[in-house]
Amino acid sequence: MDTQKTVLILIDGMRSDAIAQCGEPWAQKLIADSASCLEARTVMPSVTLPCHMSLFYSVDVERHGVTTNFFSPMVRPLDGLIECLSKEGKKSAFFYTWEHLRDLTRPGGLAYSLLINMFENPDPDDQVTDAAIAYIQKIRPDFVFLYLGDTDEAGHDFGWMGEKYLDTVANAWRCVRRVRETIPEEYNIIVTADHGGHDRTHGTDLPEDMTIPVICNGPAFPTGTVLKQASIKDIAPTIARLAGVTAPKTWEGHPLLE
Ligand SMILES: [Zn+2]
Repeated sequence: MDTQKTVLILIDGMRSDAIAQCGEPWAQKLIADSASCLEARTVMPSVTLPCHMSLFYSVDVERHGVTTNFFSPMVRPLDGLIECLSKEGKKSAFFYTWEHLRDLTRPGGLAYSLLINMFENPDPDDQVTDAAIAYIQKIRPDFVFLYLGDTDEAGHDFGWMGEKYLDTVANAWRCVRRVRETIPEEYNIIVTADHGGHDRTHGTDLPEDMTIPVICNGPAFPTGTVLKQASIKDIAPTIARLAGVTAPKTWEGHPLLE
């Protein structure tokens, strides 16, 4: 299989059922053109940094040991997605709005990284999306991580599935659409979330917190396919497989590809 490039877009705290309710019909159209699982599972605790660690290192929280939003180095370090890509000479870039995510990779792995701090800037999701698009168009890296954080903030401030939360989900989907429609078609796009939420919180094992969407769109994925099951730990193995990079044996997830 020839190698393929991927953009991973993570919408923080986006519940699967918010996609239909946010009032952006293009989101449904993308799902129809994708291989998707709207019943995918994240890990416990359903909290942003632990879930992102399980995404990038494809192991459970017990293995990476990050149980809160404050990073601590792994007792037995293992290579994550960025380390694996970088060792094979692949170029990766991060575009994010929440500073705590800076520890998702070890120093030396990224070709480019841009933080637009959501607490210090207006319209952070839009700004970080525009920056990612410009970079992709100019540099054509092998992998881009684009993190949109406004949704989780709106959930905590106003409540999950409320009007203001759904407005930020809709805006995040307009960002996804801009990416899909302006970057080269050779790119695969994976849209997902780290966790869901309920009331004004998350972190529990309730289905509202643990269920996430995983939507895989692009040349590598069959359109109109429903994946029976998926885990947040399957995303790194999928991107590694697309890039033609061997996944470490320690990874627990499986590629969402035939
Ligand atoms: Zn949160």
